[in-house]
Amino acid sequence: MRDYSFGNFLHELRSRRGLTQYQLGALVGVSDKAVSKWENGSSKPQSNILYKLSDVLGVSVDELLTCKYHSSEKKDTKGVFAMKKQLWNKSFDAMRERYGNSAHLEIMNRLLTEHAEMQNTDMIVYFNLLSVLASEARKQGEHIRVRGGTGASFVAYLLGATEINPLKPHYCCPECGTVIFDDSVDDGWDLPKKICSCGKEIQIDGHNIPFETYRHVVHRNTSFDVSMSPNIWRIANSVIKEYFKDCELTATEREENRIITYTVTSDKSACAFTFLADTEFEQYQALERATGTAFERVNFSQNEVLNEFRLGNTDGIPKFCTDFYKDMAEEVSLGSFYDLIQISGLSHGTGVWINNAKELVNQGIPVSNVIAYRDDVFNHIEKHMLRKGMSNTGYAYKIMEDTRRGVYFRGGVSEEMKKQLKDIEIEDWFVDSIGKIQYLFPKAHGVTYVKLAATLMWYKIHYPKEFAEIML
Ligand SMILES: [Zn+2]
Repeated sequence: MRDYSFGNFLHELRSRRGLTQYQLGALVGVSDKAVSKWENGSSKPQSNILYKLSDVLGVSVDELLTCKYHSSEKKDTKGVFAMKKQLWNKSFDAMRERYGNSAHLEIMNRLLTEHAEMQNTDMIVYFNLLSVLASEARKQGEHIRVRGGTGASFVAYLLGATEINPLKPHYCCPECGTVIFDDSVDDGWDLPKKICSCGKEIQIDGHNIPFETYRHVVHRNTSFDVSMSPNIWRIANSVIKEYFKDCELTATEREENRIITYTVTSDKSACAFTFLADTEFEQYQALERATGTAFERVNFSQNEVLNEFRLGNTDGIPKFCTDFYKDMAEEVSLGSFYDLIQISGLSHGTGVWINNAKELVNQGIPVSNVIAYRDDVFNHIEKHMLRKGMSNTGYAYKIMEDTRRGVYFRGGVSEEMKKQLKDIEIEDWFVDSIGKIQYLFPKAHGVTYVKLAATLMWYKIHYPKEFAEIML
């Protein structure tokens, strides 16, 4: 007699993840026929496959074998750390809402990579808090901004903890769910706008940020800096206290009603959330009121906005109104949004532009190729390895980490490493460049600034009078 309990349970888990039999099969390395046989009870997966299934489906092997969820995990929904599985389902639901039921395999893979890396950490709990803070802020017509590399995580994006989409450049239709990846550009904002076959304008996105640049963060005691308007200071403070009400939470105030650090400890990790009250946000809100256009409604046209950056018309745009930026803009021919993102990174790091990338750009290397972010180090090495038919993300990751912390600046690049890099045909200029870097920012950090700057530039172009009154 056939045993249907495993098949039924598998079918339920697969459906909850929005996967087709083909997609689930591809993720665990079997055909769609094999998955179909498991589900109709005519065969069962081998034990090595069970481990993969447990990873992909977000349940333990024991739950797979007994064909039911552990009751203790179902009941224990009181503490926020006990809700991790529900939070994971929230990110899967958000993916389906954004990308449709038959999400692209590349997208599924990204989510599952992050899941596998984070499942034994508390990171999802922290991302979820950021998303609750963001949504409470929006209810008040306000924003929060999370600094740092959070935008390297697709899960953080799906949960609403960051606005930065780290996937490769792609189109996504809000109407019919069509997804098209397009690697002809370095950044999704450089994709030409187009109309979907269903007739709707298809959205462009994706900043090509590998999760590897964020990997170290999820495994250590971590911290988030969250800046916000003083208007929502009281609300934000009550949100975090409510969120961690069953946990150990301590608060340290550093400047009265300006900066406060909350530290929360679980049995696995400790995390610090530093809230900063920033009056800049009051200006942005004033801009929204004066123009009747909210930040998220701004749909800037690439050429129009880029042209102003090319001309150096950046007065009133934070981070881009400095003489340092204006000097750089003169040296660099700004061809794309990606170039602008590069410039943001080049102006933020230490030992990155002066005596380094600046010389390379003058020698004729395009600004899109030089090292502006830690992600560039990883992507460049990984690309060369793939060309040689090798892939070792661990190797590229180590060099990225050592570069960003200035290890080669202090100790030089060893002869052995030079040889290894030569073997994969890494250019000499690249090796010289990593030897000069003292500190490098994550790309997600730079993209956040560029998005803000491009949005403000849109206001400057379309509402020059209001912009001048509020921002200049
Ligand atoms: Zn469509």
